[in-house]
Amino acid sequence: MRIGAIRSFVIGYPDPNDHFSRRMTVLVRVETTDGAVGWGEGIAMWQEACWATKLIVDGTFAPMLIEAGEITVRGAWDMFRAHTWWYGEGGIVNFAYSALDMALWDIEGKLAGKPLYELFGGARHKSLPASAANHVNKATLEQNVADVMGFKEQGFTICKLGFAKRGPSSVGRDPEGDIRFIHELRAAVGPDFEIIVDAGNGVKWDRATGIDTVRRMAESGIGWIEEPFYPTQIEDYRALKDAVDVPIGSGEREWTVSNYKRLIETGTVDVIGIDPARAEGMTGFRMVDEICSKHGVTINAHAWSTAILSAASLQLSLASPNARLFELKPVPVIVQTDLVEEPIVQRGGMVSAPAGPGLGITVNEELVNRLAL
Ligand SMILES: [Mg+2]
Repeated sequence: MRIGAIRSFVIGYPDPNDHFSRRMTVLVRVETTDGAVGWGEGIAMWQEACWATKLIVDGTFAPMLIEAGEITVRGAWDMFRAHTWWYGEGGIVNFAYSALDMALWDIEGKLAGKPLYELFGGARHKSLPASAANHVNKATLEQNVADVMGFKEQGFTICKLGFAKRGPSSVGRDPEGDIRFIHELRAAVGPDFEIIVDAGNGVKWDRATGIDTVRRMAESGIGWIEEPFYPTQIEDYRALKDAVDVPIGSGEREWTVSNYKRLIETGTVDVIGIDPARAEGMTGFRMVDEICSKHGVTINAHAWSTAILSAASLQLSLASPNARLFELKPVPVIVQTDLVEEPIVQRGGMVSAPAGPGLGITVNEELVNRLAL
């Protein structure tokens, strides 16, 4: 392919999934000299990171890609990495070339007339169980249980509970309350519903509290515990792994394939979270997926942003032997429902392969322009 034009957009929108906070992200639109268009996302989120990402795309990578002439997706990925050798082994630059890599893959699929999962070796799953990736943010335990019951009524058979998020909820800030919440939730949803706990950045458990809390939550059965400690506290992860029989998730804050390899080789993570809009794009995701195959580790695509990222995560997950579910924002949000003509939704608790080529989406450019800051 030969790239003729690139535009980037910092967009902002209120998200009812996140207590109506205003969330931001970066989108790119890449067009070949023949008029094929691909879209990608760099999930920079913080405003300064979004503007820095846009600056790197517009000021460096876009002219570099256009001047490169005929180029492959992998050739572009290598070029971005080679140029940023001094500052590229982790950081904001990864958002920038993740977005471009995603858009180039979208073009590659469109030129081939095939969904990307076919280019990635074929679908290992025709569909995947949908997980309601929920931020627990209501004031009372009853309201938070009711939210999950609502997702179950919609057809979800799995939920991931983000702890210590925005809003009046104390979940994630009170270990005894957290344990009570999981026990009450299990009593309400019954046995045939998977509960995953995402402690994440807001939870501040020390090693002993983490072990005690996870062990007692696990009496009600949890699918995995995600980021129970700060991601670099490997010895805490190791101690938890020795103490409980619950799969441990981490990884969404890594940046590069080499750092994923290092993390996986510690043997402390059973479920690797990875975002193709952050960690060296779809190309990087596939390399990490290969490492997961060697180590028998589950992969979980982070897809908590726009429908462009969800589409990329879905294509990758369908092609991965290591994926076992697919995360969706459970409450309708404009960047999922209106950003593409083919929103990614669950039916009967499952998310299926999109039919269209590339990412399988047609982006509503009018909405992108309306949300652009
Ligand atoms: Mg997480």
